[in-house]
Amino acid sequence: MVDYDVIIAGAGTGGATTAYTLAKRGHSVLLIDRKERHMIGLKTCGDAIGSHHFRELQELVGFPDMPSNIIEHDVAGIDIISPDREHRLRMTGPTTSGFSFNRLKMGQWFVRLAEEAGAEVRASTRVKRLTFENSKVTGLKISTKDSDQDKELKAKIVVDATGAVGMLRRQLPETSPVEREIAKEDVMVAWRDVYETPEYTFDTPEFLEIYWDQEQTPGGYIWVFPQGSNRVNVGLGLMTLPGHRRPQEIYDSFVRTTYDFMKTKLVTLDSSGGIAPVRRPIDTLVDDNFMLVGDSGAQVNPIHGGGIGSSFLGGAHAGIVASEALEANDTSIESLWSYNPRYMESYGIKQASLDVFRWFLLNVTNDEINFAFKKQIVKAEDLLDTSMTGRVKFGTGEKLRRLRSGIGNVPLLLRVSKIAGLMEDVKEVYRNYPDSPKGLADWKRRLVPIYDAAKGL
Ligand SMILES: Cc1cc2nc3c(=O)[nH]c(=O)nc-3n(C[C@H](O)[C@H](O)[C@H](O)COP(=O)(O)OP(=O)(O)OC[C@H]3O[C@@H](n4cnc5c(N)ncnc54)[C@H](O)[C@@H]3O)c2cc1C
Repeated sequence: MVDYDVIIAGAGTGGATTAYTLAKRGHSVLLIDRKERHMIGLKTCGDAIGSHHFRELQELVGFPDMPSNIIEHDVAGIDIISPDREHRLRMTGPTTSGFSFNRLKMGQWFVRLAEEAGAEVRASTRVKRLTFENSKVTGLKISTKDSDQDKELKAKIVVDATGAVGMLRRQLPETSPVEREIAKEDVMVAWRDVYETPEYTFDTPEFLEIYWDQEQTPGGYIWVFPQGSNRVNVGLGLMTLPGHRRPQEIYDSFVRTTYDFMKTKLVTLDSSGGIAPVRRPIDTLVDDNFMLVGDSGAQVNPIHGGGIGSSFLGGAHAGIVASEALEANDTSIESLWSYNPRYMESYGIKQASLDVFRWFLLNVTNDEINFAFKKQIVKAEDLLDTSMTGRVKFGTGEKLRRLRSGIGNVPLLLRVSKIAGLMEDVKEVYRNYPDSPKGLADWKRRLVPIYDAAKGL
């Protein structure tokens, strides 16, 4: 006897999308969050998203249009600025247009939609432990402020949507095919503030700025995302490599002293740190009676750390597959498996190749980046194409021309060419994602040499 068809731990965008999808299909769903109800949605974020993510969600599960009061400002494109600040690449087009938004209002809207679709929402409730029978998930234990006693709830499926901590994923038994831990080198640490700038006007708030600087933020970047003429979200993220500096320290010593708006009067609206997984998705997002959605499944773009749109995809695909499994009265790993290829095809394949690219980027120096910007070896459309498709591409004539213009740095181009090949290799492996759990171990073995080669470039 179960209490719910599905219990979802974590009511962020991933969990709420899963709850919405399942409740709309008539299943009994409990959506739990440790935050107070009116605080769900508030988190450390750059608060920016491409509009295309909402179109995808609409197509997949019929999500309604976003209310306009959630939007802070429309975004027309992104400027990438070289470490020496002398060059700027402007990326514009349908995939970079979107908006900066109010994070809390967005989160509240998602939870409200899940609830209106029929999900039960329990806020101020902490998920503590998974429960098992014969090593298979049967439900979980929760605690609330008004009771000393933990309560056990049973469900046919439990979804871990607890965000970057992946707190339920980490409790799976050793025998589970799901990776329980994420390597430190696959985690981005970040700090960001949101300010009103009454004495400083952002002239082009429709363009977000990304500052590339391998010395300050190895493997990451500093962002300045205006949210209107007199409001800005500014932060930085870097990879958690051995000996890395604390993001807040870099923020204080570098960000605060570098940007003109920082030298004017600032009204701090929020100031906080956060983490995000920046790797390929967890290799299997399902086990018996168990699914991963959003950051807990590492469904994040490894290059820019954006994960809201991919958590929509994860939540929608997980919800659709869970619904089919419930209807078939079979929630085994085999029955839930199709969530894996569905997610991998829609976004995981791109994540995997960008994860390969991430290792290349980490080993590029500021001088090399400055050189590539100056000689126009890198163009805005290349960066855009790579970030959208996970592919590094040069046309033949163009490649030669750029090779000639970059003649002073042929090794860099050779490395670019090698990494482009490895990115294609990893995509090929993903195109052959196994159609059942039996093929997983062999499939994972094919990934190892590709990542090893990328790390060595
Ligand atoms: C600094 C920073 C900036 C970012 N900027 C952007 C950006 O501009 N655009 C973008 O697209 N993405 C951005 N991201 C990534 C994005 O925030 C995440 O990918 C996205 O929020 C993932 O959604 P989620 O639902 O998986 O997790 P979350 O939104 O983290 O939701 C998880 C929920 O689980 C709840 N929870 C956790 N543990 C428990 C527990 N034990 N019991 C009950 N509830 C629990 C939490 O309270 C939370 O509400 C950024 C991330 C960081 C760290």
